[in-house]
Amino acid sequence: MAVATSLKREACLIDGQWVTNGAWMDVDDPATGQVIGRVPMMGGPEAKSAIEAARSALPHWSALAAHERAALLRTFAHLMIDRADALARLLSAEQGKPHSEALGEIHYSASYLDWFSEEARRIYGEIVPGHQRDKRIFVLRQPIGVVAAITPWNFPAAMVTRKIGPALAVGCTIILKPAEQTPFTALAIGALAEEAGLPKGVLNIVTGDPVGIGATLTASPEVQKLSFTGSTATGAKLMAQCAPTIKKVSLELGGNAPFIVFGDADIEAAVQGAIASKFRNAGQTCICTNRLFIQREIYECFAARFTEATCSLVVAPASDPNSQIGPLIDQRAMAKVKAHIADAVSKGAFVATGGVGHAEGENFFTPTVLTHATADMCVMQEETFGPVAALASFDNEEDLIKTVNASPFGLAAYIYTRDVSRAWRVSEKLETGMVGINTGLISTEVAPFGGVKASGLGREGGRQGIDDYVETKYICLHLD
Ligand code: ADP
Repeated sequence: MAVATSLKREACLIDGQWVTNGAWMDVDDPATGQVIGRVPMMGGPEAKSAIEAARSALPHWSALAAHERAALLRTFAHLMIDRADALARLLSAEQGKPHSEALGEIHYSASYLDWFSEEARRIYGEIVPGHQRDKRIFVLRQPIGVVAAITPWNFPAAMVTRKIGPALAVGCTIILKPAEQTPFTALAIGALAEEAGLPKGVLNIVTGDPVGIGATLTASPEVQKLSFTGSTATGAKLMAQCAPTIKKVSLELGGNAPFIVFGDADIEAAVQGAIASKFRNAGQTCICTNRLFIQREIYECFAARFTEATCSLVVAPASDPNSQIGPLIDQRAMAKVKAHIADAVSKGAFVATGGVGHAEGENFFTPTVLTHATADMCVMQEETFGPVAALASFDNEEDLIKTVNASPFGLAAYIYTRDVSRAWRVSEKLETGMVGINTGLISTEVAPFGGVKASGLGREGGRQGIDDYVETKYICLHLD
């Protein structure tokens, strides 16, 4: 997909300068494999310069009045909305998602800047009744300092603003390392931050070698916090790297979202919810439904309707306005999808539709439904991150909850039922950070997003999204 926009930068942003270092890495369009541009291949030394820039910018940025930072964030959000179409095209070109979804992501992404511009003015402390007659106790919430943010390729814009929004709102400065597959969207966001008037060094963006940049960011005592979104394996590695300098860490990691349909549910609504939750971004989101549990008495009916709806999804490149399912990000993703299907079939699953690559290109996969799924299949145990839905049946609520909670992951879960008591009871028992009841779409800047167990630490969005970027300071005043 061709991209022509002034927002496309083939340089990194360090201390207010767009810089290159003579080494490059190509970025391609996953729909065609064609190179769409290149970005600097930077490493540890450049990350170190970015840390120094963020450190120098911190005193001025954190000392601004909250309304001054809020105003800047609002302008930044408006600029993203004004340029939404160009940003969405850039995003689709490097990531592959259909234009309508990319446009949705840009608006969603800007909503975090807008939301945190409002929260910036409400970072309230507390005055606590003193423990002695001559003591007064004040509790302040102060910016944690320099923040390192590492983001993935599946939401090249939203994962960036979810982190930089709260960090900027509270007065932190940032070094951002976007995923190597999707750096252009992040760099374009950097260009808009600059246009909004962000002072130099407040937001630095370094592309290149993840290991070298990651090692420098995590080892630096100048960096007080790491916010990471990506795989559980990389998250665990980075958390260990942060241990020697005792950094605060936020991790948004993998999921294995169950989609549970009880016998009393509105089956048509459940089918639509499952399609939305399973196939968004071609199944490449951490809260995408991964395993479906359908109560036995409606299993056949649900499976037939869901398969029919899956068959009608349009697989096409982002440039096709009818596209609903774009390419997967790369061949590694394709291999995982194929391996999960082969494993499931070898253990007794039945391919109701799909199961094969798609004629659109080597990174395209036909939306797939597997029935007769069982707990021993890879597709039920770890996220497939592709357009594959595995349907299992269940008989009773108690056993179902045990099966679902046996997973080490706990990000999102979805329940369809008309029984309010059951919806509440099951929601409380599920070991996940988020639950959708009679809806397959739960992401919003207004709510705290995050997981439990191996799915992560901390929350992004909502009022709680601020907490990860502030430190609490207690001041005890002795009265004469
Ligand atoms: P995926 O397998 O989906 O690519 P990763 O967790 O590997 O997920 O990638 C998410 C982000 O983490 C990307 O920005 C990637 O470059 C970065 N990353 C991967 N490995 C490391 C590492 N060792 N240190 C720092 N960042 C890393």
